[in-house]
Amino acid sequence: MRVTIVEARRWGGEASWAGAGMLVPGSEYEEASDALRFALQSLTLYPDFVRELREASGLSIDFAQCGSIELAGTEEELAAIGERAKRQAELQIRAERLSNADLRRIVPGIDSGLAGGYLYPGEGQVDPRTLMAALRVACERSGVEILENEPVVALEWDRAALYASVGSGKILRAGCGVLAAGTWSSQLGKFLPATFPVKGHLIGYPLRPGSLPHVLRYHHTYLVQRQSGYTVAGTNEERAAYDRVVNDETCLEIAARAKRLWSELPEKAADGWIGFRPGVNAEGPYLGRWKDSPLWLAYGHYRNGILLAPATAERLSTQIQASL
Ligand SMILES: Cc1cc2nc3c(=O)[nH]c(=O)nc-3n(C[C@H](O)[C@H](O)[C@H](O)COP(=O)(O)OP(=O)(O)OC[C@H]3O[C@@H](n4cnc5c(N)ncnc54)[C@H](O)[C@@H]3O)c2cc1C
Repeated sequence: MRVTIVEARRWGGEASWAGAGMLVPGSEYEEASDALRFALQSLTLYPDFVRELREASGLSIDFAQCGSIELAGTEEELAAIGERAKRQAELQIRAERLSNADLRRIVPGIDSGLAGGYLYPGEGQVDPRTLMAALRVACERSGVEILENEPVVALEWDRAALYASVGSGKILRAGCGVLAAGTWSSQLGKFLPATFPVKGHLIGYPLRPGSLPHVLRYHHTYLVQRQSGYTVAGTNEERAAYDRVVNDETCLEIAARAKRLWSELPEKAADGWIGFRPGVNAEGPYLGRWKDSPLWLAYGHYRNGILLAPATAERLSTQIQASL
């Protein structure tokens, strides 16, 4: 197929630039649901996805199957995570119970008041910025045309084709198209399933590589160390429309929470940024053909779009090819 990507601003410059890149389905999904199966499928695809992109682009991608630990503040919380781990075990998710002493041994400097946690050894992290940079080169080398600073302003179709009117006034015609505009997707048609921005702040610290062995997560507070040592801490959630302000107080509050969790962190973060998660009312994401049209939907990934990327791509490309 001949493929054109039409990007309103800058390639991979929105949520897929901002995201923490945790690949942690075990602590993201409560039940052994189809959504969790899909997330696990995506996690399984990740090593090959990264290898393919590395080979196709010649660029390195900061990806590690380093395991993640979900932390419990009390015995009740620990028991609740254990119950969930039992429900998830039917999907072959491995989870190992850790005591307070285990935690302190594995992560020196961790909050000594925590009751314990569960280690998910199969999980990990990817730096979405390195992933998106490699994806761009891989696309370009395989002949994908990328148009930046070119918003799609309207979509129309007939039985034979999809027509995208773009900001520069042109109308692009294609046999089919995928709407993957993150939180902005539903702006392209009142009829489309709604998505809305859920703003989140993250902060970052340049640290020694290997100083934090696993992703750490305690409710809305988490720490993710890249292989480079750069360590990301999050987060918060705001229904704040498209307000791009990075709020210093929010960054300080996240820094304080993160430092309570892991005392090895410096007092102050070096960076702070925001992004807009593509929120949905129902269980997202929306994946598949829109009615009988040549339009396909791939949006509404909310907090897990980095994790769900390879499975999303596989599902959409398989369905589109089968429809031709
Ligand atoms: C703070 C934060 C932390 C996160 N942490 C994680 C995490 O740990 N793990 C995880 O898996 N996920 C995480 N996510 C979620 C993840 O980043 C998103 O789900 C994912 O990046 C969404 O990808 P997307 O391509 O749908 O949207 P985006 O990356 O936002 O891309 C949509 C693109 O569409 C473009 N666009 C918009 N309107 C138009 C238009 N009219 N015409 C053309 N182009 C248009 C935009 O400019 C943008 O580049 C996090 C997100 C945030 C904000």
